[in-house]
Amino acid sequence: MLNLVDIATEPLDDYLPLINTDQADRLRDLAQRLKGYRILHLNATPYGGGVSELLRSSLALQRGMGLDVDWRVIAGETKFFEVTKRFHNALQGAPYDLPEEDRETYLLQNSFNAREFESEYDLIVVHDPQPVPLLRMHGRGGAKWVWRCHIDTSEPNEEVLSFLKPYIDEYDSLVFTLDKFVPDTLRDHHIALIPPGIDPLSPKNFEIPRDLCRRIMAWVGVDTKRPVLTQVSRFDPWKDPLGVIRIFREVREQVPGAQLALLGSMALDDPEAWDLMAEIRGEADGDDDIIVATNLTGISNMEVNVFQRNSDVVVQKSIREGFGLIVSETLWKGTAMVAGNTGGIPIQMPEGTGGFLVDPHDEEMMAERVVELMNDPELRRQLGEAGREVVRDNFLITRYVIDELELLAGLASEG
Ligand code: UDP
Repeated sequence: MLNLVDIATEPLDDYLPLINTDQADRLRDLAQRLKGYRILHLNATPYGGGVSELLRSSLALQRGMGLDVDWRVIAGETKFFEVTKRFHNALQGAPYDLPEEDRETYLLQNSFNAREFESEYDLIVVHDPQPVPLLRMHGRGGAKWVWRCHIDTSEPNEEVLSFLKPYIDEYDSLVFTLDKFVPDTLRDHHIALIPPGIDPLSPKNFEIPRDLCRRIMAWVGVDTKRPVLTQVSRFDPWKDPLGVIRIFREVREQVPGAQLALLGSMALDDPEAWDLMAEIRGEADGDDDIIVATNLTGISNMEVNVFQRNSDVVVQKSIREGFGLIVSETLWKGTAMVAGNTGGIPIQMPEGTGGFLVDPHDEEMMAERVVELMNDPELRRQLGEAGREVVRDNFLITRYVIDELELLAGLASEG
């Protein structure tokens, strides 16, 4: 059997102070329309990264609405996840010639998972490329199947895409974050565009008093009397943590006493992260102004919350980014950002809100913008506040759940 992940139950009533009556009515209506349907979400990891974050909070709310919803994860050994990480990178545009051995590893593990998958559901949402062939290998049963792609597939490696295409073709509906991520060869499918959202009530995002923030930051190793620049991200080359260190060193020249906090998490399906963490350590060792902290050294959602809330500036130097939940999380806390102008990030930071969007390859400009914000607390406050309003209007989990359930209710009504 594929492992179940425990999900909380968050009552809809708890969200009512944060949403308008129209949204509340739509959520109640969707709960009625989907009553009695058995819904499954399937992905590759229960922790680390945006997909697990999104599932944890959106499914807790759906359970709170009375829906019958499960979350399961596929099984896989390191070798399989090394291959799927190569697929992930290739679908985001990295060169890769897809050797026969990798195809075999991928298909073999998927056929194993398909055999292990015995439960009965009416609506099944499969997330990202790792489990795509499961539908073909398991058979659709009586269910409608959705493939939810979270990554930036605007310039995909054609070899990987055409290898996956026959498996993707069998899905009843495909979901992407942005229209520009929909590959041309998949455009004739039923497609829904649904950007993610953040959960304002989760430990990652709920209010934490300033004083407690300072104590927690000090506990992690920051001198809270000095300025702090932070990036929170999986240790992934697309998030360019080494580039962040270079930027920080420029910033420090102009902002004396500045410190850099690099918070990173390791995900089950991301073996590549270990090598990158070693490289980061190599760079940061001996530099007392750089603090590297991970989930392995006790960094949890609360610490992430604190650093997003209480850093002077948060940077997100992504070169490619599906959505970048991290951006909405940070802006919700009213903290100004300098972020790569890529993937889903710009829709979260319209002009004049949130901070500065910069070409992520232009490290000089990124450093300049960080310095500008570091030196101007009033500008930081204004941009941060405007950013929070953008998130309130567009990127809370309630809006995400409405979009997703509309899609599922539509499929369910097709019979
Ligand atoms: N995250 C975390 N701890 C870390 C690094 C990241 O909890 O040390 C979380 C982060 O708060 C966010 C998610 O992982 O919720 C990252 O999502 P995003 O969409 O930004 O990027 P992804 O990792 O999915 O590419």
